[in-house]
Parts: sequence; structure tokens; C-alpha cells
Amino acid sequence: MKWSYSTHTKMRRCQRQFAFSQLIANPLAKDPERREAHILKQLKQLSTWQGSLVHEILSTVYLEDITAQRPIDPAKLAVAAQHLAQRQYAFSAARRYREPGLSKKAAGDDYCALYAHEYDQSIAPEAVAEVHQNLALCFEHLASQKEFLATLAAGHGHRAERTLSFRLAGAMITAKPDLLFFAADQQPIVVDWKVGESETSDYSRQLLVYALAIERCGYWPAVRAETTRLYEVNLLKNQIYQHTLTANRLDEAEDFIYRSVVELEALVGAGTSQGFDLDELEVAEHPTTCSYCTFMPLCLRHLEQAGRAEEVALVQGRLW
Ligand code: SF4
Repeated sequence: MKWSYSTHTKMRRCQRQFAFSQLIANPLAKDPERREAHILKQLKQLSTWQGSLVHEILSTVYLEDITAQRPIDPAKLAVAAQHLAQRQYAFSAARRYREPGLSKKAAGDDYCALYAHEYDQSIAPEAVAEVHQNLALCFEHLASQKEFLATLAAGHGHRAERTLSFRLAGAMITAKPDLLFFAADQQPIVVDWKVGESETSDYSRQLLVYALAIERCGYWPAVRAETTRLYEVNLLKNQIYQHTLTANRLDEAEDFIYRSVVELEALVGAGTSQGFDLDELEVAEHPTTCSYCTFMPLCLRHLEQAGRAEEVALVQGRLW
């Protein structure tokens, strides 16, 4: 059984959405429904797409700049992101994500599937222009954070999206920090890039899981989780927040993972997905979860087949 923080959030958001995304979707499966679930899994709203573009440039173009000790060039990063956005938009508008035999890997970084293109919804040119403006704004904000950039420049061993894993409660726990590097005193520093307007989200648990993974993955035996510095950097709001890390909070994070793994096992069965039955899974509690769910057509079909008429009406009523 594999567990990650995103597994936990998906499972909590909606059991059925989690099942479509984590257990059913498979691009190589013979079953057409599993291939369809894979395509639906790729669909993004514009705000999510915007965030993924920023992450892509930070983990490639900007990482190369850091490694080569070049100063940040926000205009260069914005142009790279906007070019990528143009290519991805064209790919999605042509619905090339549905091209038979064209895998995500083969399409490379052109690959994109926007929700609006899949469901024939018009996208206002102003909305696309706003995405382009926000891309530029994010890199301008980053360039304005002089103290933080000095911390980045003084570090070494920068790696983007490196997978770290360790075992806990019989599960393989995986974590993939956006950026991980080491200060001159060899203590790890984690950066989690955010590109959102939300004031309510609390990402501290996610970052604490990263600290546990750094200590326990085995790559750096001398490193202790307590000494990790955890930065949440919201590039859209130009805010940097350093999360406090204490032994107590790490204990709580470990306990949180343990409880989440137990919950996951109860949902899908320990070790494999053999115990999993879609028709037994609940629909989402919050209406907005369904409103933005890319799996709605599959979900409705299964609810109908299972004779769950009340829930069909409930989910349909959440369409926007
Ligand atoms: S449509 Fe609603 S209930 Fe169905 S999978 Fe999506 S979020 Fe869950």
C-alpha cells in the first residue's frame, strides 16, 4: 500500500473521486473505462493549470538558473511560462489528449487537457490573458523576495520534485517536495510553491510529512527532521511563511499518517485494491467537490447502474 499526502486529501474530499483517480485510472488498461478515467484525471481547471505552469518553470528553467548560480530573471521566466502556456493551450484546444496512441510521455511538456475544452465550454480570451499576467506576476513576486533568494543562493544540492519514501504502519509513504536543498551547515531546506488565492488552507501537515521523509528516506543518515526549515511560498500573493517545526509537531504528523493509512486500508483493503467496491463508496459531502469533479460522467453512470437514484439526483444537482 502506497500513501502520500495527496492520497489523504483525495480520500477525504470524496471516496469515489479517490477511487477513480488512484485505483481505476490506467492509460494502459484494456478496459476502456479505465483508460477514460485516466483521461478525465488529466483535466484541469484554468486556476490549476496556471499553478502547474509556474511549477513546471520553477522545476526546470529556474532550477537550472539556481544550479548555475545565475541571478533570477523574472522576465525570462515569464516568457518561458507564457510560451509553454501557448503550446499547452493549443494542444488542449485541439483535444490532442484524446488522440489514440499519444501518451503523456510522448507528448512531452506540450501535454495539457483543460476541463473547458473537454466539455465544450468557451474560455474567454480575458481569462487566458489573466493566466499569462499571473504567470509574470508570480516571477516578479519571487524576484522581489531578496532575503529568501539569498537563502536559495547560499544553499547547495538543489533538487526539484525528488521522490522520497519510507515505511510506516505497513505502508510505503512517499513525499515529493517542490524544492529541496541544503544550507551551508548541511541542514535541509524545503520549499513548497503555492499559486493560489486561498486564505484558509493549512499546509503545515504536508510540510511536516516532507521533514519526516527527509529524515527517514535513508539518503541523508545524519539529518534530523527537527532541523529542517520549511518554507511555504505563495507566489501569487507574494507571501512567504516559515512553518514551525517541533518534536511534538513531528509526533503529531506521524500519528496523522498512521491514522490516515488505517483509514485508507479500511477503504481499499490492505496491500492491494482487492477489497475495493466502487458501489459501496459514498458520494462527496460538499457540493462544490462534485461541481469541479472531472469524473462526474463516470460517477453518474456507476450510480445509475447501482440503482442509487437519490444520489444520481444529488450529484446532478451539483452541476454548475
Ligand atoms: S461527481 Fe461527486 S461524488 Fe462523484 S466522484 Fe466526483 S466528487 Fe465524488
